[in-house]
Amino acid sequence: MGRVKTKRRCARTSQYRDRRDCLHTVYFFNSLNRHKHQRQLKSLAPPGEKCGLAADRVASVLMNEALVEVFFAPPRLRKYVKALSGSTVTAIDTRGKAMLTRFDTGLTLYSHNQLYGIWRTAARDRLPKTTRSLRVALHTASNCALLYSATDIEVLTDSELAEHRFLTRLGPDILDQRVSAADVARRLLDGRFRNRSLGALYLDQSFMAGVGNYLRSEILYTAGAHYMGRPSTVDKNTLGRLARATLSVSRRSYRTRGLTVTQQLAKTLRRRGLPFQQHRFWVYRREGLPCYRCSSTIVRASVASRGLFFCPACQASSQG
Ligand SMILES: [Zn+2]
Repeated sequence: MGRVKTKRRCARTSQYRDRRDCLHTVYFFNSLNRHKHQRQLKSLAPPGEKCGLAADRVASVLMNEALVEVFFAPPRLRKYVKALSGSTVTAIDTRGKAMLTRFDTGLTLYSHNQLYGIWRTAARDRLPKTTRSLRVALHTASNCALLYSATDIEVLTDSELAEHRFLTRLGPDILDQRVSAADVARRLLDGRFRNRSLGALYLDQSFMAGVGNYLRSEILYTAGAHYMGRPSTVDKNTLGRLARATLSVSRRSYRTRGLTVTQQLAKTLRRRGLPFQQHRFWVYRREGLPCYRCSSTIVRASVASRGLFFCPACQASSQG
């Protein structure tokens, strides 16, 4: 066991601080005594999930509230300031990485954060100190939702929304509670998707929006499906498990802020002293380590240019 240093550099502030004092940092001590920043942990969340959490925050301050002040940085959007001032936010939805803020005037704010955009919320008189570029500000009497650094922002009517170039290409959102396992099963067997390999399909946002790279590995593992299998060749039971795991694993990860293993297994692993980053997944980034179910060694493959992790024993049956 190496010596544990108490002073480490926070990735957010670049200051060396005692690890017990720095709220920004999640420390973990593996054989290298490395530490990871909380934001790096969050960056592992799939796109839809990250956006879902941001949408929850924004909804908590804007839903059913009247806007008393509206700001748009892009000049092309300033013509909407008057129409939206005094309007009420009626819904906030996500579609993959896109967020839709709907107003009672019939207009919708479409925002896609790409890599750098971020929503923040604050009390109206306590704006965050940041060097980021403010793109949109929606103020209620007491709070505000602020969008920084995003470039893909539009205000759309319902008909423009229905024809939107990005949204029309997206499949249903994995966090949309209206989507059922039967819907996912139908989609798996749809002519557009049935002959694709599962490894490629589960990164395609037109199949299901919001499935990111780590969920791909975790869903296939939970369903016992090999990444080379195709919806048209796997047996009926595997197809059913895939449909259910697509939703259950994604929703569990969203609910627990990033756990795909069962709560029970997470608890057991925590008791053994494994930190969050090492007990959250069944297979993702666990190559060379034993499978929690069968003790076979987890393997890493590269599929669609991204790392995919699987158990060769638990996920052998549906290879086709
Ligand atoms: Zn296994």
